[in-house]
Amino acid sequence: MEQSIVDVLVDKITNKKYLNSLSSDAKSHYNLGIREAIIYLNKPIKPITEHWQVSICPTCDEGFYDYEECNDGYYTRAYTLERCPSCGQKLNWYD
Ligand SMILES: [Zn+2]
Repeated sequence: MEQSIVDVLVDKITNKKYLNSLSSDAKSHYNLGIREAIIYLNKPIKPITEHWQVSICPTCDEGFYDYEECNDGYYTRAYTLERCPSCGQKLNWYD
């Protein structure tokens, strides 16, 4: 059976020692949580863009201050950022 990319990522980021210390019920909750987080972070989401404000990640609320130049209160949007530099959320600037 071929593994999906999500299965591969879950396997790579899981601390096996920690996972083995869990009960089988906790193990399945842990795996489900990791899977959902990976799926969510890879679903493109539009950054929060307000006039005269730096763009903000909708997932972690971090502003992209290091990536958007501000001239006279007008921010140049960081359209080339594919992911939030803080949390890794995939971004979609155009929807
Ligand atoms: Zn973020």
